[in-house]
Amino acid sequence: MSRPAGEKRPRRPRPGRDPLPDLTPYTGCPADDEIGLAPLAVGWLQRGQEYPQGRPPAGFATALLPFCLDAYRVCPLPSPQPCPLCQQAVPVINHHGQPATLGSGELRVIGEEEIYAAPTLLYHYVTAHHYLPPEEFVAAVLSGPPAGSAEHRALIRTLQSYR
Ligand SMILES: [Zn+2]
Repeated sequence: MSRPAGEKRPRRPRPGRDPLPDLTPYTGCPADDEIGLAPLAVGWLQRGQEYPQGRPPAGFATALLPFCLDAYRVCPLPSPQPCPLCQQAVPVINHHGQPATLGSGELRVIGEEEIYAAPTLLYHYVTAHHYLPPEEFVAAVLSGPPAGSAEHRALIRTLQSYR
């Protein structure tokens, strides 16, 4: 099937609407492309979608939350989106005095070989809906550069500058 040239263009995935399998290329944030980053998608869940569930290793959720802080958010949305799974607005989490407005943008995690792009709702998916992210992402959160480390902050600041 052909379609008229120029009619359909790739567009930014909308959380909760467009399926994006884990560990496939994530192209929803133009800033990644601007700096030559080709992150992998993690946790772009949508309503009614089947997703892996399970109990992550101890300490995973605790290590993940700081990545979701507003301070480290990239590709912010105009307003926070409700959770596509439970349709509820997720309350802002206060983490040592810093807000994490889940649903308001994206996070980045640095792995050994890859950078991962996830919605900040990921923390809610893990803690409220038992979503179990891919093993290599879990390992990156637990063993890679922590949120707020020099390496992580450098990446986030670069991406944020392309807002
Ligand atoms: Zn939910």
